[in-house]
Amino acid sequence: MTKAIFPGSFDPLTLGHLDIIQRASALFEEVCVVILENSEKKSLFSIAERLAMIQENCKSYANVTCAADTCLTVAYAKKRGATVILRGVRSVKDYEYELDIASANAYLEPSIETVLLFSNGAYAFISSSIIREMMKYGADISKLVPEHVKVALEEKYRNL
Ligand code: ADP
Repeated sequence: MTKAIFPGSFDPLTLGHLDIIQRASALFEEVCVVILENSEKKSLFSIAERLAMIQENCKSYANVTCAADTCLTVAYAKKRGATVILRGVRSVKDYEYELDIASANAYLEPSIETVLLFSNGAYAFISSSIIREMMKYGADISKLVPEHVKVALEEKYRNL
């Protein structure tokens, strides 16, 4: 009976994120998708907007919840009673980054395990930053993000 948290920026949520969430929901008793502010990234969507995107797209998964916080990832896992930090890996570049983060988290809290799921091949090139770049130049992103997110992106770029 393992609870997992899936931390990230989700700016915005993509079909790559959703694929990881769907697969994790079948593996864990509970999955908490949590927006933890990455101080090195300037966000396009507010926390409330990103939470709404996750809520809208995860409502069919009974064991998936979502939240936002500003603490360290391990502190959030402990607060939620989760023993797993879940992350997705698209490439060797992701792997190297995730290894550093997982090692730092294990140093801070050895009782919490990092579990990595490999990206579905069809979604491996999708990142929130690529979606934002495509949107900026009017490319078609309809097969890369959920419909609700596409609408929110169109709205955001119309008003920028
Ligand atoms: P962060 O700023 O914490 O990296 P992201 O929202 O960019 O936040 O990513 C959150 C998690 O989702 C990370 O583990 C990332 O590797 C994973 N992820 C992002 N895009 C994909 C994708 N297309 N396929 C699988 N995992 C992904």
